[in-house]
Amino acid sequence: MTQTSPDHVQSKAAKAPINWPGALVLTLTPIAAMILLPLYLWSHSISMAAWITFVLFGVWTGISISAGYHRLWAHRTYQAHWTVRLFLMLGGTLTAQNSILYWASGHRTHHKHVDDVDHDPYSSKRGFWFSHLGWMLRNYPSGAANYKNAPDLLNDRMVMFQHNYYIPLLLITNFGFTAAIGWAVGDIWGVMLMAGLVRMVLGHHITFFINSFAHMFGKQPYTDENTARDNVWLALITWGEGYHNYHHIFQYDYRNGVKWWQFDPTKWLVSSLSKVGLTSNLKRIPTLTILHAEVAMKFKRAEENLSTAVSTYGHDMHHDMELIRHRFKQECDALSTTMNEWKSLKEQAFLLKKAEMSQKIQETERRMKVDFRLIEQRLQAHGERLEIALRGIKFVKSVG
Ligand SMILES: [Zn+2]
Ligand SMILES: [Zn+2]
Repeated sequence: MTQTSPDHVQSKAAKAPINWPGALVLTLTPIAAMILLPLYLWSHSISMAAWITFVLFGVWTGISISAGYHRLWAHRTYQAHWTVRLFLMLGGTLTAQNSILYWASGHRTHHKHVDDVDHDPYSSKRGFWFSHLGWMLRNYPSGAANYKNAPDLLNDRMVMFQHNYYIPLLLITNFGFTAAIGWAVGDIWGVMLMAGLVRMVLGHHITFFINSFAHMFGKQPYTDENTARDNVWLALITWGEGYHNYHHIFQYDYRNGVKWWQFDPTKWLVSSLSKVGLTSNLKRIPTLTILHAEVAMKFKRAEENLSTAVSTYGHDMHHDMELIRHRFKQECDALSTTMNEWKSLKEQAFLLKKAEMSQKIQETERRMKVDFRLIEQRLQAHGERLEIALRGIKFVKSVG
């Protein structure tokens, strides 16, 4: 009898043939950096020019992955002028993370089949190391290129140029650019080592953390239907990509850190460029939809907490817990009223847009905006009250 358990699939997958180009780059570059950097430091110090180029290349390549490979090409969350695309394409090439076409198509598969051990190319259900690095070391069937999900990219001249000339471009950017800058500032080896090799190795693992770390550690404020998490520490080193829980539920939003206080420099950059016409069609999920996801998640948590409390305490449940349960039920009813009103308001807005001949259209639109804002406040209040209820449940449970 054939077994199809995840373990079985994994053990079969472990015998996948080695992906030599990927395996060599990903193992030899860190080894080279670990040998060459101390050797260099033995007899030299890092020049100011090498440090500056290292930082500038780090920013350029990091942003090229987040704003370019990820939010522009993989998810099409905005459009960009060709100069911006060229800048991001070259920066992305420097990272040695394969072509835009391969990267973005694989990433679309990751979103579509997230956590699936057979179809997600870097499923975190196959372990930290597999999702971080292992998936690139062998030719696993789950990681096989299939560009059917990228007809837009197959028709993009710049993307296809990079894909077809990937190796020469990779060599020119990594060796040519760094050597030329090094020569210009009088420190060829220092710049090639720092802005070339060390920057590339660090850039690799920082990006890979999104597939490994951000699917294991952090909070899930929007959904727990997949492993993606919001992790502020990762956001700090990935130009805002750490808000991965939000990103997995609303992948077509150009923002990952959607709240104004969240650290998302990629969002700030794309939005600033739109002010000068270099980016356009920035896609945003409506605030109410986001808020609803958050409140729904809080309800789910409160419900789970309540049901574990009920199963723990049974009929002898603490009086306070009964009270919380009662309040929770009331809140559920109140939420469904809010949702119904929101739904009818959306229908009205849709009809209004369709009609578009009413003379009072502006006044009505203004009134609707106010109504939408009221719904937003009510949703926010539901969330806040639930937060208090959740704390109450935890407190009652702790004094048991
Ligand atoms: Zn992910
Ligand atoms: Zn994504």
